[in-house]
Amino acid sequence: MSTDTDIQMSPKGFHCKLCNVNLPNTASLDQHVKGRKHQTLSTVRATRKTQEDHSVFVSGITPEISQTDLAEYFQPFGNVADIIMDKDKGVFAIVQFSETEGAQATLSRVEHQMKGLKLRVKPREKKEFKLIPKKKNDPQNLQQVLDRLKPQLCQLASVDAQMQYVVERFQLGENEKKARELLVQLLQEVFVEFFPDSQVLPFGSSVNTFGIHSCDLDLFMDLENTKVFQARAKSTTEQAGEGMSDDGCSEDSILSDIDLSTASTAEVLELVATILKRCVPSVHKVHVVSTARLPVVKFHHRELNLHGDITLNNRLGVRNTRFLQLCSGIEDRLRPLVYTIRYWAKQKQLAGNPSGAGPLLNNYALTLMLIFYLQNCKPPVLPTVDQLKDMACEEEECVIEGWNCTFPSQPIAVPPSKNTQDLCSLLTGFFSFYAKFDFASCVISPREGRALPVTDFLGQIVEEEAMQEEQHKAHHQHPKLGPINLLDPFELSHNVAGNLNERSQGRFQRECQEAEKYCRSLQYQHKSAKGKSWGLVRLFTPQGEIQNTKTEQLTISIPFNSASLPEALRNELHKAGDAFRLLWFRQVCSAVEGVMKTVLKCNLAVSKDDVDDDDAVAAEEMETTISSHTSSMNDSFECVESPSKTGPEGAFVVGAKRPLSSDSDTPVSPQGKKQRMRKPGSPPWICVQKHMVWAGRRKVRRVLIKDTDSRPEGSCVELESQVTAYITEKEPELKEPLEFRVQPRMMGGTESTRVVLNFKPRSDRAGVFQDFFHFLEVFLPKMVDTLLEKEVGSA
Ligand code: ATP
Ligand code: MG
Repeated sequence: MSTDTDIQMSPKGFHCKLCNVNLPNTASLDQHVKGRKHQTLSTVRATRKTQEDHSVFVSGITPEISQTDLAEYFQPFGNVADIIMDKDKGVFAIVQFSETEGAQATLSRVEHQMKGLKLRVKPREKKEFKLIPKKKNDPQNLQQVLDRLKPQLCQLASVDAQMQYVVERFQLGENEKKARELLVQLLQEVFVEFFPDSQVLPFGSSVNTFGIHSCDLDLFMDLENTKVFQARAKSTTEQAGEGMSDDGCSEDSILSDIDLSTASTAEVLELVATILKRCVPSVHKVHVVSTARLPVVKFHHRELNLHGDITLNNRLGVRNTRFLQLCSGIEDRLRPLVYTIRYWAKQKQLAGNPSGAGPLLNNYALTLMLIFYLQNCKPPVLPTVDQLKDMACEEEECVIEGWNCTFPSQPIAVPPSKNTQDLCSLLTGFFSFYAKFDFASCVISPREGRALPVTDFLGQIVEEEAMQEEQHKAHHQHPKLGPINLLDPFELSHNVAGNLNERSQGRFQRECQEAEKYCRSLQYQHKSAKGKSWGLVRLFTPQGEIQNTKTEQLTISIPFNSASLPEALRNELHKAGDAFRLLWFRQVCSAVEGVMKTVLKCNLAVSKDDVDDDDAVAAEEMETTISSHTSSMNDSFECVESPSKTGPEGAFVVGAKRPLSSDSDTPVSPQGKKQRMRKPGSPPWICVQKHMVWAGRRKVRRVLIKDTDSRPEGSCVELESQVTAYITEKEPELKEPLEFRVQPRMMGGTESTRVVLNFKPRSDRAGVFQDFFHFLEVFLPKMVDTLLEKEVGSA
């Protein structure tokens, strides 16, 4: 075990002061201390300490004094290694010597005079080395950004002015746009060397007129012309014999390593990644994400501090970006509305998935929702996409992958809107539109500008399929229907909000209801004479996520369903009589452990001395209830249900104070406040996950089974374990591992027996717990069923 003084014992295990992380046990502590982060920070701290010991703080200088003057003056005391001057005022400096002796000699001299100035020399202040965590979506950070924005917003005269200010404050500046253009140009020049006639095209928020300072740079690499080039070169080479094509493309060109007409997207992206790493200056952190809906190469540009994504086959992305640009050109009110709503959604943590994949809206989806609302205003603020198509001329016709993407190239072709509402009322309208929107039964179609009833929509799909069948046409896939159905305006088989789950849809609608309520208040519409927050300020207050995570029960329920159990287990439970609940409970616990450990490759640790308040209360209740019954364990189960004794619903918590059976195995070992002895692996479990094993599973599954069978998710332990292994091997680790606690409890009586798993994040610096939890909500119960079947089958 580490003896590092940075490590403190805590009620939940250990705490590393240096890195500000909690470690549940000695194993994870040892791993952490040996890990890169702890080691790097220790080294940086040691270097800082040496620098402090070797330096002195000098004041009393004037701006005319140069670094050379100081070096000349202090050199006789010891070798001067560095001089840091305060650039703005030029009144102090830090002089760093190569050895401590230099600093000591300087300090031992009582008076220092240089060029007629009396210098004051002090030991350098020793500052405690602290890690300042930077968390983009940390609610505290969101609040800090808002705190800086607040004074400016509050002093403006109207909500409209505030919205215009939000645009000014966040939009990409001319220099930023120029820098992005230059980077695209540089990439174009590099790539064309390797992929002749290729084109690098920017799309997304860098160019759609809605970009903000930190937005990523989305790029599409068009290799269509390169394919033609390669095919031509190949046939020429074949005719002329091997060696050199007449274009001078020698055999060892990168293109000769790959046949673009047959190569997979992943192979081409690997090549793109290699070129980025080797040939583009300042580009680092390059990696391929092949499991995304559209596989991409991600990179970071150091000098510009810019994240970039390069995709292939993304002509539709470039076209829908043109569409957003057009809407912006048609309607001046769109930009302030987009910036305001994007910022509101960010503050409320409704949009933007910190880890890439996740169950929240992305900015594209959010913008489409706004456009749809504007199409539905009376009179409409924006035309529908179908109407735009009719306004285009023949040369503007555009079909991509079979989808009609025609619209006018210039805003002038579109007649101005008759709607004269101001920004303030349009914003209120947006919230009230979605506060009431019937997401469950409607499909949002910006193409038609109307909400299509889900039933009609499904009927339409069936008809289309029949027609395609008749005409022997290739089938377009169906949109993945979900809690929000938002059709892409062009790729009509794509639900842009298909990644959302019930919870995120519910939160979006609730926040719209809250916002609508607020927008009807005087505080929204009238500037406060007393300088209080008003207008957009209150709308932007971050709250949603913090409150929700605290109050929302993060539980997953696994109901007892005898019909779905395999026969052998059913018989076994039947034999156990009333004790079946305990038996089944143990089976479920071991299956949950199996899913976490074997299938999802979490590291499991025992939670020592770690009973939550609510668990403690439940354990307390349990003890009271049980001790009032000296009869059998089965009796105690029945009595737990009694509302008169334990409240509305009795709970059996693993680790409750009283052992349920004298010969009981680990899951039911006694654990109260006084006695907390558990075997490793017994619940509650502390799980540590280092990879986003939930992201892109469907795609990996498809790769692994190669479409030879169609086993649904969660139906095969081996396959799901392989999927996890594939992801952990191919995808980078999370910056910080996710650590969470799972507490199983048995709830309900004989009729409604179920195991309720209580989840609690313990360390989630990467901000991914919600995503993982949402995935588990569906995956875990299915996988437990599969494991129950397997365990008994193999017993
Ligand atoms: P930001 O990067 O500021 O979040 P963005 O508009 O660039 O905003 P991204 O998520 O980076 O959003 O997506 C880039 C582009 O990719 C979008 O502008 C859009 O053209 C396309 N796109 C993104 N998500 C989808 C989607 N779900 N369906 C279709 N196209 C999408
Ligand atoms: Mg983007």
